[in-house]
Parts: sequence; structure tokens; C-alpha cells
Amino acid sequence: MATLPILQYGQPNTEVLHQPAKILTKEEILSVPIQQLIADMKETMYHAPGVGLAAPQIGQKYQIIIIEDKGEYHQSISQAVLQERDRKPVPLHIIINPQLTVIDADEALFFEACLSVCTICRITPRKKSVRVTGLNEQAQPIEVVATGWFARILQHEVDHLHGKLYIDFAPQETEASMEEYKSRWLFANAQEIKAYYEASTQ
Ligand code: ZN
Repeated sequence: MATLPILQYGQPNTEVLHQPAKILTKEEILSVPIQQLIADMKETMYHAPGVGLAAPQIGQKYQIIIIEDKGEYHQSISQAVLQERDRKPVPLHIIINPQLTVIDADEALFFEACLSVCTICRITPRKKSVRVTGLNEQAQPIEVVATGWFARILQHEVDHLHGKLYIDFAPQETEASMEEYKSRWLFANAQEIKAYYEASTQ
């Protein structure tokens, strides 16, 4: 396994971040190069560390996403914030050729960040609940139904496979540096974030 460099938006030769990724056949999924790629993606996500990674972020135009939101990542976050964001630990998911459908179209507003846009975050609207179907790393069908933060991560990662980054639609007026986020917004509740979003985007 290897840790691979994560493409950074705005750098040269990162067009793949804005291009659609390719659907994989079952034979391709089970092939040595794709199995190796999945292993490398896991190592790269853990090393970053991040809660999700899509193959285009390491320059591979394939429809593969991996997600894991470890409980240990939550230790520095207050219970109130975790509860507001509906964020719970999520075990490792490897989803290939994901198809996303919306279950609850109501939107949640929270700051969101990306390993490919690593110095900033913006308030990003996301559907509250989604269903994702696809194949796992053994090319077997899987289905995931998610709410809250897990639903947000799924929408973020599936967007990557369609060449879409959160900064393509999250309002720039709500942008904060990571330092600003930590000092001003880390403990903000949903109402405060919504009020700021609405005031910023009027
Ligand atoms: Zn991302």
C-alpha cells in the first residue's frame, strides 16, 4: 500500500477534479490494479486524515469512493456539536459506481471542507437523507441509507465522481479559513450557522 498525493484545486494538472469519472465493470473492480488503487486510497485517506476520498482526488478517473468516520475523530468535538450535525461513527465503506437518490430533500447547513481544497471551508447545503447503491470492492451490490453527517459525506464524495467540488456551489460569502473556522465556528449551533448563511447570501 502507498500514500498518494492528493490533488489540490487550483494547482496545475488537476483538471480531473472537474471531469466525470468512469464506471467500472465487475472484471475491472476485481483486477489487480483497481484492488491496489482501493488499498492505496484507504491508506491515503487515513494518512490525511479525512473521512472520505474519491479516486479523482488522487488523479484516477474511476467511480470509486471510500468513507470512514472514526469515533476517534470525534474525541475533540463536543457532544452538542456532534448531535447537532447528526454525526456518528461510520465504519469503512468502499462504494464503486455509486448511484445517489434523495430520501429527505430538506437541507442542512454546515461548514464543509475537502482534502482537495484544504485551507478553507464554506457553509454548504446538503440533503438531510440519501440512499446510495453501488458495488463493493468484491463487485457485490450494496445499498447504504444515510442521514445527517454521513449523508453529507456521501453527497460530497459522489459529487467528486461527477467533477463537482463543494466550492462550485457553496457560497463564497460564507468562506472561512481553517483557523477562522476553529476560532469562530467550531462550537456554533445550527441556528447561528443558518443565520450567518442567510445574512451572507442575501
Ligand atoms: Zn472532497
